[in-house]
Amino acid sequence: MSVESLSEALDAVMVWPRPPQVHFTGGEPFLHFPLLLEGVRQAVERGISCYVETSASWCTDDGEVGHRFTALREAGLQAVLISCSPFHAEKVPPVRTLRAVDAALEVFGSRGTIVYLPEYLKIIQIFDIDRPTPLSSYEEIFGAEEARRILWQGYGIISGGRSGYQLGHLVPRRPVEAFADMDCTGEILYAHHSHFDLYGNYISGFCGGLMIGSWRELTKVLDDFRAGRYPQLVEVLIERGPYGLLGLAQGEFDYQPLSEGYVGKCHLCVDLRRHLVEVGDFAELEPRSFYQHI
Ligand code: SF4
Repeated sequence: MSVESLSEALDAVMVWPRPPQVHFTGGEPFLHFPLLLEGVRQAVERGISCYVETSASWCTDDGEVGHRFTALREAGLQAVLISCSPFHAEKVPPVRTLRAVDAALEVFGSRGTIVYLPEYLKIIQIFDIDRPTPLSSYEEIFGAEEARRILWQGYGIISGGRSGYQLGHLVPRRPVEAFADMDCTGEILYAHHSHFDLYGNYISGFCGGLMIGSWRELTKVLDDFRAGRYPQLVEVLIERGPYGLLGLAQGEFDYQPLSEGYVGKCHLCVDLRRHLVEVGDFAELEPRSFYQHI
C-alpha cells in the first residue's frame, strides 16, 4: 500500500459517524515498517484509536523488536496485538512470538500487550520453538480427538479459508442441506470487524475473497447498502446464505457439491466461490490471489 492510499483509507474511516477503532494488519504490517509508523502517526493525528497486529515473523533480534515497538509507542500507539496460535506457529518459529511478547510487555505494558490467543502460549512451546510446527504434528502427537480440540475448538476457526480442506477430516462434515436456513445478513451487514486491503477492496467481517465494494468509494457503498443495492453474489449471501449461492452455482455454472460434505457454512461458501471464480465473471470475488492460495 502506498502512503497516499494509506492516508486515503484513514480518511475513509472518518465517514462513519463515530470513527471505529483501526487495526493495522496484513499479511504482516512490519514488513514495511516506515509505512506502518507513518500509518500510526496519521491515525493519531486524526484522533483515530488504533492498534497494530503482528505475526511476529520478523522478530529475530531483541534489539530491533524493542526499537520498533518503542518508535511506535513514541508515535502514539497504545497497543500491539501478537498473534499466537498453531496456525501462526506453522510458519513462525515460536521463539519469535515469545520475543515479541516480552518486548511488547516491556514497551507497552500489560494493558497494551494483547496476545491472541494467550491459551496457545504453552501449546506452541511443546514443540521445538526454533522451528515452525506443521499442523499435522498435533494429530501425530496427541491423536485426532485432542488435535480437534486444540485446532478447531480452541481457536474458533471460521471455515472460510483453508481449514475445511486441510483440517476437515478432524471434525464432522455435513451435507449441503444442513446449511439451507443459514443466511449471512449479520456477517455482511452488521460486521463488527472489517478490512480494507491495498487494492481498494472492502471486505466485511472475516469473509475473505468476497469484496462488498471499494473502500475508496465508501460513501457510495454505504448509500447502496442503505438502499438495498448489492453486488449479485453479496445479495444472494445476505438473503439466503451459501445455500442460495449453491442454487446459482448448480443451475448456471455446473457446480458439483463435495461428496464428503462441509465442515460449516463458510466452507460451503468458499468452495462455491472457488468454483465461481474459475468459471464465472464476478467482480466481487476479490482479491483473486485469495483463491490461488486456498
Ligand atoms: S458463508 Fe460466506 S458470506 Fe457467509 S459468513 Fe461465511 S464466508 Fe461470509
